[in-house]
Amino acid sequence: MKITDIRLGLLRVPLKTPFKTALRTVETVEDIVVSIHTDSGHVGYGEAAATAVITGDTHGSIVEAIRSCIAPRLIGEDIANLNRITRIIQGALERNTSAKAAVEIAVYDLWGQLYGAPLYRMLGGGEPVITTDITISVDHIDKMVADSLSAVERGFESLKIKVGKDIGVDIERVKAIYAAVEGRALLRLDANQGWSAKQAVYAMQALEKAGVKLELLEQPVQAQDIEGLKYVTDRIHTPVMADESVFGPLQVIDLIEKRAADIINIKLMKTGGLSNAIRIADIAALYGVECMIGCMIETSISVAAAVHLAVAKSQVITKIDLDGPSLCAFDPVDGGVTFSESEISISDAPGLGIREIRGLEPLPA
Ligand code: MG
Repeated sequence: MKITDIRLGLLRVPLKTPFKTALRTVETVEDIVVSIHTDSGHVGYGEAAATAVITGDTHGSIVEAIRSCIAPRLIGEDIANLNRITRIIQGALERNTSAKAAVEIAVYDLWGQLYGAPLYRMLGGGEPVITTDITISVDHIDKMVADSLSAVERGFESLKIKVGKDIGVDIERVKAIYAAVEGRALLRLDANQGWSAKQAVYAMQALEKAGVKLELLEQPVQAQDIEGLKYVTDRIHTPVMADESVFGPLQVIDLIEKRAADIINIKLMKTGGLSNAIRIADIAALYGVECMIGCMIETSISVAAAVHLAVAKSQVITKIDLDGPSLCAFDPVDGGVTFSESEISISDAPGLGIREIRGLEPLPA
């Protein structure tokens, strides 16, 4: 199974409701889709989200990185040589992690197809059903409470609450949601870099004193402020999770050795795809550190790859934040991973099992 062609397309899917964090507001998914074609007729699919505020990647940079740096190096490569191919992708250019992720996901899809097995089995197997949380966007308190109650009614047992706007209002937001859903859902707090280290400690100590129990606090401080992250981790009881602060395996080792965070959030768009995500999960497991797996604003192509990884590494990836597909107004993909509100399940189809992507707009080669 040799690579003969790599094609690009644009996939647009409206969101059910706008996605609002301390960093941005998004109303429509607009992701780059990669299809890798082979001499055996098999096609593998991948997807990249353009998250400029986090990874620095834009549609233009993703397309150009794949078109001029990654794709030309892969034509003629045999899918059986997976390690060689992932090394070529990772070494094709610096950074550009979302572009690398899209291509790697398509390659792993083909690798599963080559051996006729769903990807999670190729990665070590597991129980092919997982449960995700859902994001509650940052908004007026009443709106956030109403969104939280509606998520609980839809069966979600974990809510990821976006905060990081105004510290005083943030504390009131969390108290109100906690009172409304107490005992029915676990709360994860994501500040998306919106607080200073001292503000984070102040807010969390106020919440802890008020008896509000939170499963974790995610990325309270600026991405590059590892000392600030450690300052918070050292001073609060709630576990602290690093998201924007860690992209690759070396950063994870550094963060764990500094004890700057208690949990690592793995996202394929930060790691540059599955090969480094696997490394991070294995490193974290060695140190006895738990991981969450998350996603950007992605559809069920790239999120499917994250689901397969989460199943295969469920020993260490204990928290699932893969709500991208359930935030979409419809699922454009007919594939092997089924997203049904909080429950995500994988079929027996080889690779990622993607049969059709509706509404894909081809981009010029
Ligand atoms: Mg986050």
